[in-house]
Amino acid sequence: MIDRKNELAERTTLVREELAEAAKKAGRTPDDITLVAVSKLHPASDIRALAETGHVDFGENYVQEAVDKQKTLADLKVNWHFIGGLQSNKAKFVAGKFGLVHSVDSLKLAQALSRKALGQETVQDILIQVNIAGEVQKSGIVVEELPSLAEAVMEMEGIRLVGLMTLPPFFDEPERARPVFSRLRELKDMVESQVGARLPHLSMGMTGDFIPAVEEGATLVRIGTRIFGVRPPKV
Ligand SMILES: *Cc1c(COP(=O)(O)O)cnc(C)c1O
Repeated sequence: MIDRKNELAERTTLVREELAEAAKKAGRTPDDITLVAVSKLHPASDIRALAETGHVDFGENYVQEAVDKQKTLADLKVNWHFIGGLQSNKAKFVAGKFGLVHSVDSLKLAQALSRKALGQETVQDILIQVNIAGEVQKSGIVVEELPSLAEAVMEMEGIRLVGLMTLPPFFDEPERARPVFSRLRELKDMVESQVGARLPHLSMGMTGDFIPAVEEGATLVRIGTRIFGVRPPKV
């Protein structure tokens, strides 16, 4: 386990260095970017090993798996991020248990999170996931629906809109994702003036494309494979 811990620590350090370099190149402060280590399908022991090196932000995609890991790792200081597709009937397992939900993509889901969060002490921070390329198989709302969902979410109690998230189409060449990232930044500016509030976060960039994402303004990058290695298949 010591070896695995060192391996994860080294990989994470390398990613941090590349993030910092990309940030500086873009005239940004590396401190403004949170590295979310995406641990889905990797064992809880990997999260523990990396958390013991001081890493706090972890992203999970599947409700049951995430809840199980949270139980196993309850003694650790972890800031959990929910980044996967979420059905509104499962919102009750997520509200209040994750520092940030990145993947709100419907009015129904926002309402379910709001309802559940209302009974809790802390406000649930959320991002709206936007499907910029309009790919049919991808989650996220289409751009045309963003203004009305943002408006509605701003009115809801228990949840707080803090930004936008996107998952670009897969490209072999990371530069091809750049227009998607700059578009998300423009959409955030648009929503900010629409609702009259500042939205601090842009969640964008993964293993293959986090450099252009940071250059385009990402404040949260979600990196799995670069840190943990290839994911085992989902059973
Ligand atoms: C799995 C996943 C990631 C991490 O992807 P990698 O390519 O392994 O870095 C990031 N974001 C979302 C939404 C994911 O589902």
